[in-house]
Amino acid sequence: MNIVCVASEAVPFAKTGGLADVAAALPRALRKLGHDARLFLPCYRRVWSAGPEIAGTGLTLEVPVGSQVVRAFLHESHLPGSDVPVYLIDRPEYFDRDDLYQSGGKDFDDNCERFVFFDRAVLEAIRLLGLRPDVVHCNDWQTGLIPLYLKTLYRRHPELGGAGSLLTVHNLAYLGLFWHWDMPLTGLDWKYFNHRAMEFYGQISFMKTGLVFSDLLSTVSPTYAREIQTPALGCGLDGLLRDRSADLHGIVNGIEPHLWSPARESMLARNYDATTFREGKAACKAWLQQRAGLPMRPDVPLLAQIGRLDPQKGWDLLAEVADRLLDRDVQLVVLGTGHPKYHELLGQLAGRHEGKVWAYLGFSDDLAHQIEAGADLFLMPSLFEPCGLNQLYSLTHGTVPLVRATGGLADTVINLNPWTLGDGTANGFSFAEPNAGALWNAIEVALATWKNRTVWESLIRNGMKADWSWAHSAAEYVRLYQEIARRVQ
Ligand code: ADP
Repeated sequence: MNIVCVASEAVPFAKTGGLADVAAALPRALRKLGHDARLFLPCYRRVWSAGPEIAGTGLTLEVPVGSQVVRAFLHESHLPGSDVPVYLIDRPEYFDRDDLYQSGGKDFDDNCERFVFFDRAVLEAIRLLGLRPDVVHCNDWQTGLIPLYLKTLYRRHPELGGAGSLLTVHNLAYLGLFWHWDMPLTGLDWKYFNHRAMEFYGQISFMKTGLVFSDLLSTVSPTYAREIQTPALGCGLDGLLRDRSADLHGIVNGIEPHLWSPARESMLARNYDATTFREGKAACKAWLQQRAGLPMRPDVPLLAQIGRLDPQKGWDLLAEVADRLLDRDVQLVVLGTGHPKYHELLGQLAGRHEGKVWAYLGFSDDLAHQIEAGADLFLMPSLFEPCGLNQLYSLTHGTVPLVRATGGLADTVINLNPWTLGDGTANGFSFAEPNAGALWNAIEVALATWKNRTVWESLIRNGMKADWSWAHSAAEYVRLYQEIARRVQ
């Protein structure tokens, strides 16, 4: 099939979160299954220094945005290690900035215009390139207008008339909301500004638009697919999602073994696999302790967390238990950026618990790998988690995850108990209630289990033996594409 994937970020070009990993991995896996998958991205400033070579296509796009026609260049590159073409939409006025969506914690004022432009530019580029996709695979709010454009302004174009759409929700909490007077920018008739289409409590929602008009919908785990149909996690769209329940699928993300496998990663102090993890992890732990300026003790449990410092990731629960935890004989390493209040919290914890805490408040891909390899226990008490990648990275690295049982965490982490230990499925710890008491109980169980090396090593082995590669998930996406193609014909 001919599949055009559209995303606002993809590794190695630009990344702020899990979407970037998935947006690159899926087209690669689709190619391996024999499909013609291509990827469209905005040409941000950072893509020029990301590594892959970028060449001009010589094509100039003329993109209607409001009453203007905005010109843009189309560049071409490839996803490393594959022949997946990547098309970069270059309009410096919109994308030649340090960050992707915001600056200093505040969304860019012109995000509506930037992504109206991007969505239409992708469709114009598909026409110019003569791609004739069967499916345009959209991801999150930034691409949410494409399904509606396909059904309206681009329906009669020969290159796009036969294209259906899939919208994958990576995080429903970001609705892509803009004030209604941005409607003229979209080029769409005002009749679409109603509660059955684009309107969401008086504003335009790009996410809602995609959810209404996409032929099929998916999200990144079966549990999250169910959760977003409830008021608790539906972000105001649960009614719509219940109406479209039959069209909504949950497919857990995979991970790419050439990028995330302790046997291959070049930045690790020592490579290891499921048979050599004892020596391998010990070397990686010692390296990490040294890098973090913590005492190089093999006998102390090293806890870690990597990710956005955001309430979503359970940081308020962690804040409540942190002092109690650090009074124990443990070490804590954190890699992340985000909310200033958590930056402050980590600074205070490091001051109060000298020699026990190291927080690297920045973005470092190498360090993310090194922490996944060197830590013993990975804390992920998310309030909600569409899929979550770090628990998967932890499992493959023999770092035992401790998670709240929500979304993809519930689908991938099997809590230790006598039955799951007995049948060889236990791979971590989980708790249900989103409160600090429940988190603390789970931490106590984990710290007690750490002392029992036999059980701990079974958790490691069970986690490391699972196959999280993309082949299975990509095949599920292909089934959705085939269903979409049947519906569109
Ligand atoms: P989300 O997409 O909600 O941010 P995920 O767990 O799905 O969370 O994916 C986060 C991805 O971003 C992972 O690949 C993680 O390693 C990476 N990541 C997040 N913060 C950082 C950071 N500060 N440095 C390096 N990698 C990070």
